[in-house]
Amino acid sequence: MSTGPGLGRPDRADESPDEQPSGLDGTGEDDAPAASLTGSWEEAAPGSVPGAAPSGHALWGTTTSGTAENVGYVPTNTGGAPPPGPRKAPSQGESELVREALKDAKVSHETSAAAVRTMPGRRDREWPRPDRCRIITIANQKGGVGKTTSSVNIAASLAMHGAQVLVVDLDPQGNASTALGVDHHAEVPSIYDVLIEDTALADIVVPAAEIPNLFCAPATLNLAGAEIELVSKVARESRLRRALDAYDTDKFDYVLIDCPPSLGLLTVNALVGGDELLIPIQCEYYALEGLGQLIRTVDLVKAHLNQKLRVSTILLTMYDARTRLAAQVAEDVRNHFGDVVLNTVIPRSVRVSEAPSYGQSVMTYDPGSSGALAYSEAASEMAHGGSVQ
Ligand code: ADP
Ligand code: MG
Repeated sequence: MSTGPGLGRPDRADESPDEQPSGLDGTGEDDAPAASLTGSWEEAAPGSVPGAAPSGHALWGTTTSGTAENVGYVPTNTGGAPPPGPRKAPSQGESELVREALKDAKVSHETSAAAVRTMPGRRDREWPRPDRCRIITIANQKGGVGKTTSSVNIAASLAMHGAQVLVVDLDPQGNASTALGVDHHAEVPSIYDVLIEDTALADIVVPAAEIPNLFCAPATLNLAGAEIELVSKVARESRLRRALDAYDTDKFDYVLIDCPPSLGLLTVNALVGGDELLIPIQCEYYALEGLGQLIRTVDLVKAHLNQKLRVSTILLTMYDARTRLAAQVAEDVRNHFGDVVLNTVIPRSVRVSEAPSYGQSVMTYDPGSSGALAYSEAASEMAHGGSVQ
């Protein structure tokens, strides 16, 4: 169901049936804070946005169950220290950054400035921004584990809290482009042109549809051929890194690279292009299968192509609080990987899977849903704690 203008949902009662577990976990709803195994959810309590102005679309507080406040949680576990300030003064540097980014993206500043103005109270909820652009590759050669969903929703969360974010879609299916509302039919200049034709990233980056500060380097279907075409190219593993180096990534706070479900040359390009690796792991029986191979590939890339690469973040996805299995998988992953596993786990949520068909992230599609809250929390952890360089 779309939450279009004026279509606020009165409460959670109309969550789809499979969004509502049978209560075996004792909570009776998976929109409950069960998403976090160890983190505190108290601060994420829904509230209203003071002086919230209607924004004219589903973004920011046009649903009654989900408001900007829902995803505006800033954790208190930063040891009482004030968060590092943004790289530029928010009031003027921000619009400067937007203007600059938009200039490259070839869209008008007016559009963006208007959109920024529709984000009530936004600056109160800005998260600390990294000193330097963090390039985070999101990879796992298993399909359907939540790579794209995590890329899009974490990127959206970060952008909604004041960061400049670029999503690089490296999957020929272009699911991240779809979820960001970005056109990616065959004629669109895309990441294929960057990797194969040496087109500059600046020529293909476009703004995402719903969220200011969020940009996308789209993927088209012809990227499927790139795995083979790359084989004969010079520096075939480093072409994305070279494109990123040539691009002024410093105008972004985060670049998130969404990988295809394979360990082919596209994923290798993403591993060489990134400084950090985020591995989404689905809380299912076969979740850990293949992880050894992924880690070995990472080690090889580290040894030969990109010394900086490190596994900085593991995110447990599609957690079903009703099953013991999910809890067991989560525990195994935590025992094995320790601190890099985010406290927040992403619950299975119908809203999360519905959002892309509306060309949206769940952060705008239903900001109060369990999935949006969890992704916001996960992104907050990354912004606050995960910036150890
Ligand atoms: P990948 O990119 O790893 O192949 P996706 O992010 O595309 O995986 O997710 C696979 C499928 O699972 C998609 O249909 C997506 O909508 C759905 N999905 C992902 N995360 C969730 C979630 N937390 N709850 C429900 N469905 C989800
Ligand atoms: Mg994907």
